Amino acid sequence: MSPAIFYIPNNKHPAEANMTKRNLLLAEMIVNEGLGKVAAGRAASDEEVLLFHTPEYVEALKTGYPDSLASSGQHWHETIYDDMKNITGSMLDAIDEALMNMVSGSLAGGGHHATPDSGGALSVLNHAAIGVMYAKRKVGRVFMLDLDLHFSNGTTIGLADVQDVFLFDYHGQAYNFSRPNIPHLFRKLSGSPSGMFYLKMLKSELPRAIDQFQPDLCIYLSGMDVYKGSHNARLFLSEKDIESREEFVFNQFAERKIPVAYTHGGGYFSEETAARLYRHTAKAAANARIKGTLLRGAKGRC
Ligand SMILES: [Zn+2]
Repeated sequence: MSPAIFYIPNNKHPAEANMTKRNLLLAEMIVNEGLGKVAAGRAASDEEVLLFHTPEYVEALKTGYPDSLASSGQHWHETIYDDMKNITGSMLDAIDEALMNMVSGSLAGGGHHATPDSGGALSVLNHAAIGVMYAKRKVGRVFMLDLDLHFSNGTTIGLADVQDVFLFDYHGQAYNFSRPNIPHLFRKLSGSPSGMFYLKMLKSELPRAIDQFQPDLCIYLSGMDVYKGSHNARLFLSEKDIESREEFVFNQFAERKIPVAYTHGGGYFSEETAARLYRHTAKAAANARIKGTLLRGAKGRC
């Protein structure tokens, strides 16, 4: 069996330095531990970005004008649009690879606060939502699973009327909460729930949602700001809980032979901690890929 492939954007801008460092550390762990191969992702095209974002917003990101729009996600700089297209490209590469070989990941952010016509809360482009629109040109039904601490407001607004998409979102904090017109399951886990409570609920609700919706692909935005060591902790998952969550999520899809392309969400702690936590995601993904591929192969021989 060929190794799992993880994609990393080729970004060097100082504004991205912190995120880049943690992802490079993670890439090193993935390779050293034999979890898979890390490849440079491609750049997304304008046409692909426009599957989700408006031409006005894209123009602002290209030119810097008007500044209120160009800087709505992060302070505008000359390479911001190209940097973001590199991150989107890694997401799209992960989708293509997952559709062929069951599981893949983009070692970069998912951008779930960006709406079609604006950035927000550090999200410039919504890489996960662009991924949903891109995937819908290739498969019938897409399951968008968002387990970041924060509600996926940009994804929800932008995909509110897109058919054959299911939005699943557990969060501990929501800005601009809204409900889409399409099937969804949203839970605000308030009152500082423990990891045990979180996992129990996920184990009961995720399999049911998958079985009801019968997706052809899952795009998973895995947020580590659910970690109890986060600066802004609202949910209190331990590292062990996070490891269990990642194993559970990837296994649920592998058991049903449904491909998963994942991307990262937030995580507000040191680069080393972020890399260590996301290593659990990469490991669970690599293991589930073996399981899913074997199951798919077994079916093919019948
Ligand atoms: Zn977050």
